[in-house]
Amino acid sequence: MSKRGRLVVLSGPSGAGKDTVAGKLAESDPCVVISVSATSRPKREGEADGVDYHFLSREDFEAKIDAGEFLEHALYNGNYYGTLRAPVEQCRSMGRHVILVIEVKGAKDIRLRNPDAVLVFVTPPSFSELKARLESRRTESRDDIQRRLNIAVTEELPLAKQYDYIIVNHTVGESAAELGAIITAPQCRREDRNGLIGKILQDAKAENVSAY
Ligand code: 5GP
Repeated sequence: MSKRGRLVVLSGPSGAGKDTVAGKLAESDPCVVISVSATSRPKREGEADGVDYHFLSREDFEAKIDAGEFLEHALYNGNYYGTLRAPVEQCRSMGRHVILVIEVKGAKDIRLRNPDAVLVFVTPPSFSELKARLESRRTESRDDIQRRLNIAVTEELPLAKQYDYIIVNHTVGESAAELGAIITAPQCRREDRNGLIGKILQDAKAENVSAY
């Protein structure tokens, strides 16, 4: 059976580019999959149910909380967001690395319950860049943008220090490559490869190759 995939949390202010970075990596690496969250927020133009989110009513979301179906869930900007446990478990058991693109409270819960998870914070290079990116999306109202900026400054950026890695998102390509490196680096740890080196040496001995 393949080795269990890693659980990777990606957080950062709305507008930092987390979804784009995760999407770019998943596009090029079949071992990486992005978890589709559930939310009670209204669908934005261009979003599809089951693709961008599982869009649920508040009542249905609360029923799933009560049934213990979420790995984590949180309230953000007045709406519920949560990660469904079953699909994440299924992908990990097949050896695929699962990326959760989630806000900071959910990330904290994941850390508490899954000490082996790797937590990555994505930040834009500057505050002016964050503001410009949010405004250029044209998907939120002026009030919503202001609320998201307030959350970034008061709740999200101050928690970056609790993450294992910080990616400064200058360009999507570079950031996706950094994320890929973070996910795969542990596979190259010596402890995991000692067996292989031992096997090579054993094979060499079997063929009577020794020091000369
Ligand atoms: P948006 O409304 O822009 O799609 O998402 C708002 C925030 O909710 C983003 O920071 C996003 O990463 C976060 N989010 C999306 N899905 C989940 C989830 O399943 N759990 C948690 N805790 N946050 C989520």
